[in-house]
Amino acid sequence: MQEVERQLGGRTRDIHLDGELAYLFRERSWPQASKIIRAWMVWVIVLDVLTLSLNAVLLSIETVEPMLLPASILPPAAIVTAIAFRKPLSPWQQGAFLISGVFLILLSVALVGVNTGGEFYERHLTIMLFVAVTAIVIFPVPLSWSITIGAYALGIYLVFQLRNPDIGVGSAIAGTLFFTSGVAATVVARRTATILAQKTFLLELRDRNRLADLTDANARLELLARTDPLTGVANRRSMMDALQRCWNDDHSPNNGVAMLMCDIDDFKKLNDNLGHSEGDRCLVKVAGIIQSSMRDERDQVARYGGEEFLVLLPGAHEEAARAVAETIRGRVEAASLPNPTSHVIPYITVSIGVATATRDGAGASAEDLQRQADAALYLAKKRGRNCVVSYGAEAEQALK
Ligand code: GH3
Ligand code: MG
Ligand code: MG
Repeated sequence: MQEVERQLGGRTRDIHLDGELAYLFRERSWPQASKIIRAWMVWVIVLDVLTLSLNAVLLSIETVEPMLLPASILPPAAIVTAIAFRKPLSPWQQGAFLISGVFLILLSVALVGVNTGGEFYERHLTIMLFVAVTAIVIFPVPLSWSITIGAYALGIYLVFQLRNPDIGVGSAIAGTLFFTSGVAATVVARRTATILAQKTFLLELRDRNRLADLTDANARLELLARTDPLTGVANRRSMMDALQRCWNDDHSPNNGVAMLMCDIDDFKKLNDNLGHSEGDRCLVKVAGIIQSSMRDERDQVARYGGEEFLVLLPGAHEEAARAVAETIRGRVEAASLPNPTSHVIPYITVSIGVATATRDGAGASAEDLQRQADAALYLAKKRGRNCVVSYGAEAEQALK
């Protein structure tokens, strides 16, 4: 990208692609270049055959006969070049095929006139230059290839004009110089077109890179907006979205969905005794334990409040939900994180309220389920903490 910026920072006419950028540009422009070159090859074959057929109809057999042999060089040369451009080859192979193919095509056109003589001699040399000019203008190839095509087209013209019995040396040289200026102009036009294509390519690269950066930054922001910065689990907002999705989803709540409200017992005492930063470390550990107790990636944990975690278990019925809750409770207790003055035991424990919505409970909203899990948690605290309580008649009473 540094190189892209550097090239775009300078003058357009100074754009010059090297190394990886040159490779990427070739790759990017290959499909178009291949199509153009193959179409041009077909075009010259059609013109060659068409001209020969017209000549056969309009001219005498003695005139047409000397055209046949040189004209027959063109189709195979064009076909081989067209085939070579069907699949990407290395640049030097492509260059070799194109430069030799076009050379044979130009030679064929020139020789048709030279062999026939008379008015056809100069006319075909001019047609040959015209063919060369179209190739230079439309082939999106490296400048050196275009220059080579222009140079040997003028070379063929000069050599045959010097041998033209109808004109003198001066006229042959003057004609070549005149066409040289025309060919040079087309090479310059080709160079400009190539540079503009390269600039468009560089701008595209820059745009794509900026878009990728933006998408990346957006994804990071999105993640930040959905993550609790202390524990790394989802935050409340993210859980509310997940809840809503779960409810709109076909699978739930009819297929069963459970919610666990987990609250650390006597957490305030831990803060008071061991300090707030120890409290923070404890929150991170408990979040990790809850996260590691999930059944699969569909289950979700969120930090709901200070020391409260909400767990969503899509597709879970009462028994499965209680099993997950018991796992969490047992693992937190087994972790033996100190909480010296807790009423329960001198270690960190959690109380968990479980609420499940099944087919029977269809119609219940996400908020209802949350309230039920809260009521069950309240009961768990009342029953002495460090336990799992499911929402039932007693908790329903508490809710009222
Ligand atoms: P209970 O067993 O009834 O849940 O008692 P508790 O002490 O856990 O509950 P209470 O709601 O009285 O206190 C919760 C404490 O959690 C109070 C607050 O200082 C602490 N807390 C909330 N957020 C954070 C936090 O981000 N970091 C730390 N270290 N403490 C927090
Ligand atoms: Mg609490
Ligand atoms: Mg608490």
